[in-house]
Amino acid sequence: MLATLLASGTLALAAQSPVLVEAEAFDDLGGWVLDQQFMDLMGSPYLLAHGIGVPVADATTTVAFPAPGTYRVWVRTRDWVAPWNAPGAPGRFQVLVDGTPLETTFGTEGAEWHWQDGGEVEVGATARIALHDLTGFEGRCDAIVFSPDLAWTVPNEREALAAFRREALGLPDEPRDAGEFDLVVVGGGMAGTSAAVTAARLGLKVALVQDRPVLGGNSSSEVRVWPEGHVNQEPYPRVGDVVMELVPERRPDSRNAQGAHVFDDDRKLRVARAEPNIELFLEERVNAAHAEDGRIRWVTSQDVRTAGRTRYRGRWFLDSTGDASVGFLVGADFGVTETGHMGASNLWNVQCLCKDEDPLSMEMQRATEEAKFPRCPWAVDLTDKPFPGRTSGSTEPVADGGKPISLGNWFWENGFDRDPIWDMERIRDQNFRAMYGAWDAIKNVEGRYPAHKLNWVAYIAGKRESRRLFGDVILTAEDLRDGTVFEDGAFPCTWGIDTHFPDPRYSEGHDGDEFIADYTRGAGYEYKGPYWAPYRCLYSRNVANLFMAGRDISVTHEALGAVRVMKTTCAMGEIVGMAASLCKRFDCDPRAVYAEHLDELKALMTRGVGRN
Ligand SMILES: Cc1cc2nc3c(=O)[nH]c(=O)nc-3n(C[C@H](O)[C@H](O)[C@H](O)COP(=O)(O)OP(=O)(O)OC[C@H]3O[C@@H](n4cnc5c(N)ncnc54)[C@H](O)[C@@H]3O)c2cc1C
Repeated sequence: MLATLLASGTLALAAQSPVLVEAEAFDDLGGWVLDQQFMDLMGSPYLLAHGIGVPVADATTTVAFPAPGTYRVWVRTRDWVAPWNAPGAPGRFQVLVDGTPLETTFGTEGAEWHWQDGGEVEVGATARIALHDLTGFEGRCDAIVFSPDLAWTVPNEREALAAFRREALGLPDEPRDAGEFDLVVVGGGMAGTSAAVTAARLGLKVALVQDRPVLGGNSSSEVRVWPEGHVNQEPYPRVGDVVMELVPERRPDSRNAQGAHVFDDDRKLRVARAEPNIELFLEERVNAAHAEDGRIRWVTSQDVRTAGRTRYRGRWFLDSTGDASVGFLVGADFGVTETGHMGASNLWNVQCLCKDEDPLSMEMQRATEEAKFPRCPWAVDLTDKPFPGRTSGSTEPVADGGKPISLGNWFWENGFDRDPIWDMERIRDQNFRAMYGAWDAIKNVEGRYPAHKLNWVAYIAGKRESRRLFGDVILTAEDLRDGTVFEDGAFPCTWGIDTHFPDPRYSEGHDGDEFIADYTRGAGYEYKGPYWAPYRCLYSRNVANLFMAGRDISVTHEALGAVRVMKTTCAMGEIVGMAASLCKRFDCDPRAVYAEHLDELKALMTRGVGRN
């Protein structure tokens, strides 16, 4: 089919072909945010009206049509609270064509992603399209199709939809070739970034591929978890030098969910960009890979704005995606704790429209302005249920100087018994429902905090646990407790065996959707640290050229509780970077670094790769 490039990057096909407009490719996203987290589940990045209860500004674009006339409009969306049969369809939005709203209100039906029928519209040669949010409560739009065939329906089945997108967007069959790298790092969290920096400093040509505009993963300003753990420990005090270049300066407010500045995204970008051997690919999500004879040959990413595809060939690959996405794509052995695993959190904070500028400090100040918040009948109903931060049923405001309340911190967590990959959009959305339910209860049931408003809410979920790739050693909690000594001890663990489970004090009435966590601690969950965990946890046992670093390494569910804090995951990255340099020097694979070059690895660990 003949394709013609039209205005604004919209691509229309021959006159009778439908016109596909991807929401994420709009010229101006307005107040909508780009959400790429669930591409693997629902097929595309999408735009989210994340206004925390205040409608966001319109996203706008100009679409050129192959011929003026009548088109049927289809909008890919869903009612995001439908999985709970909750009333009210909070994610409502309109589509404006040349300033006039279509009659249909979107986001009002269907638990699943689908094409909602928007009726017929007359257009000229071009039209100005806007997504107009009606609520500020997490409306979502994947794409819009204008079909000149009024009887045609857009495919929604996974493969057919992907084929339709490729054709309608005129994407080439072959991805762009980014070239050949020594090390391809997929996932730019703390682990991936430190691996890239370390390997680059040791002379490797590195691709660092990250699906967000910033680096740091959970410790970026998008998720706001403060990196814990200790590095620069004996007998390898130089392991951690790169870590400490990446970790922001500690400040009095260096805690979870504080202001964006605390997490200093620029610092991580600056350190990575200072390395001439790193080619940085931001807003690129790896979603395909190719392996032959037990080795990865290449991975392919999708640009989250344009859908363009890029291939990265490499000798060695690092899976630092958290979810072991690369390993999964190439058939690496992995384990996942099906139920009773750690969940995900969407941190949040509140702010007073008064003198109190510390967002998590809820000490009551005299109100200077009223911050209204609408009722949320579609949220978790916490009218008469306990949650952290609630005064025991009191409707009296806490007096000035009262204790900070516990809103938005790490224990607002759910998904313990849900699939941490395939149920992930639901898990993130249940975090939203819990937060909105709590705030509704505080503001509208208890009548407390009249001058406070929801200030910031992460729409990128902070994940703790999903797939763990198996290496030659699978580290266990017994190893930590017993102090098992591995000759290849390579990164220091200093955090307790801290796994999470639903907090029984807040679980009643929320079966399967518990949203407050407690954690394991005390006897049986402690060990003598620093504990040096083995290098053999950092490469795949069955894919010869695959490293891993971060929460997807070779550990059991319990041991993950100790290794997952971010100075530790970042130190894993350093070790992978060092090991990759030995792979290049000795023309070998990760396993041989343990079997044949452990002394050289220890020499690098002794020397360190820091700049300071
Ligand atoms: C609420 C919460 C509180 C926590 N508290 C602490 C704490 O106080 N201190 C602490 O140190 N740790 C804490 N942790 C644990 C810690 O944040 C995680 O264990 C850690 O982030 C895991 O690191 P990672 O690099 O594996 O994953 P991430 O930090 O998630 O980084 C992975 C990165 O890869 C990107 N990515 C994923 N898939 C792809 C793909 N296919 N293509 C390209 N890029 C991709 C992601 O966008 C992300 O940026 C907490 C976790 C949570 C959720």
